[in-house]
Amino acid sequence: MATKLDEKLEPIFRDVLRRNPGEDEFHQAVREVLESLGPVLVKYPEFAEQKIIQRICEPERQIIFRVPWQDDSGETHINRAFRVEFNSALGPYKGGMRFHPSVYLGIIKFLGFEQIFKNALTGLPIGGGKGGSDFDPKGRSENEVMRFCQSLMTELYRHLGEYTDVPAGDIGLGQREIGYLFGQYKRVTNRYESGVLTGKGLDWGGSRARKEATGYGTVFFAQEMLKARSDALDGKTCIVSGSGNVAIYAMEKAMQLGARVIACSDSGGIIVDKDGIDLDLVKQIKEVERRRISAYAEERKSARYIEDGSIWSVQCDVALPCATENELNGNDAKQLVSQGCIAVAEGANMPTTPEGIHVFQEAGIAYGPGKAANAGGVATSALEMQQNASRDSWTFRYTESRLEEIMKTIHTSCFETAKEFGSPGNYVVGANITGFLKVARAMTALGLV
Ligand code: GLU
Repeated sequence: MATKLDEKLEPIFRDVLRRNPGEDEFHQAVREVLESLGPVLVKYPEFAEQKIIQRICEPERQIIFRVPWQDDSGETHINRAFRVEFNSALGPYKGGMRFHPSVYLGIIKFLGFEQIFKNALTGLPIGGGKGGSDFDPKGRSENEVMRFCQSLMTELYRHLGEYTDVPAGDIGLGQREIGYLFGQYKRVTNRYESGVLTGKGLDWGGSRARKEATGYGTVFFAQEMLKARSDALDGKTCIVSGSGNVAIYAMEKAMQLGARVIACSDSGGIIVDKDGIDLDLVKQIKEVERRRISAYAEERKSARYIEDGSIWSVQCDVALPCATENELNGNDAKQLVSQGCIAVAEGANMPTTPEGIHVFQEAGIAYGPGKAANAGGVATSALEMQQNASRDSWTFRYTESRLEEIMKTIHTSCFETAKEFGSPGNYVVGANITGFLKVARAMTALGLV
């Protein structure tokens, strides 16, 4: 099923497999990028000579450390945490931290690798990095989460800095955790260094529209893809997987642009609401009460909850995967296409499997990969860093307008690059090549880094 790799790229990929055993998600992310780069090496043979790809596949620095902490009953726990500082050719390492029991080095490296190209696509001066821990925040008390964050930062602080490495949130890590992390950073360094973390609260250095940015950006990107096909979101039926921060604000923007959102999900099941999702209710359940999405169906007569159901079986025009990696496989993609889906934009990182991507591309529907479609989150983090550096705070309207502009520019550059390299309409090729060229040029200019 997978595209064959160019003969120059095959040995590079084999080497990545050999050097990083067992890291399946990282292999998948690398392979997807390498599959796009054949024509680049033809046009720019110097990048092959300089072994730029081999260098990009090897993180600049990888930090793995122990996080000991005590739960409310006094029992000791030990978690493992990671920060992979992948590439700093364009700026300080930038990327979120994920708290989830599935976290291991392979997940953090896949996310960090994606982040290099995503961040390059934003056009802003940020390098790529990612971190996280196998800590499971589910069911943990406020105090337990705080103690865990404090313990983690007691080690991590020495590797961070507004000019060095700037974490943010991801799955399992939101504004509450950023607060505890920032508080501990401030204590141990004795510096009010706002720009060291993004996704902060509005009262203490956060940016307006950062919370909304990933979801909004994904929908702006979907709108641009539809526009390129002389179509629009207005009047379209939309489904969104997940019900976390990305999903909630993807639903919000889709509704604002006139779409009808009828389904969302969490790891327990899906809800389908034939009258359209009541977003205030989802926000109350997820953001305030931190409950399961099944609670939605208990409150709304027009909705049904399907335990363990697949959201991709719900008929729609536009699908927005906003939950997690590999949540949409080849069969799901076939079902979506056969039921009339015309566009997919990824709010999550790598949510579609390689087989799924292949199905979308064969069918010729508009498919926006995460590293382009969800770049609005990290782009707005970079805008937060700008505001922190100038001790300023911008209005929501201004910040959102910057975000919209950035997403339009990303769409245009992916679209144009795909055309230039002989794959018109292929946003995977467009995103990978655009991001790669930016990083490769900078790495070349900086000497052997
Ligand atoms: N975790 C988000 C991402 O995958 C945001 C990263 C950030 O804002 O630094 O891009």
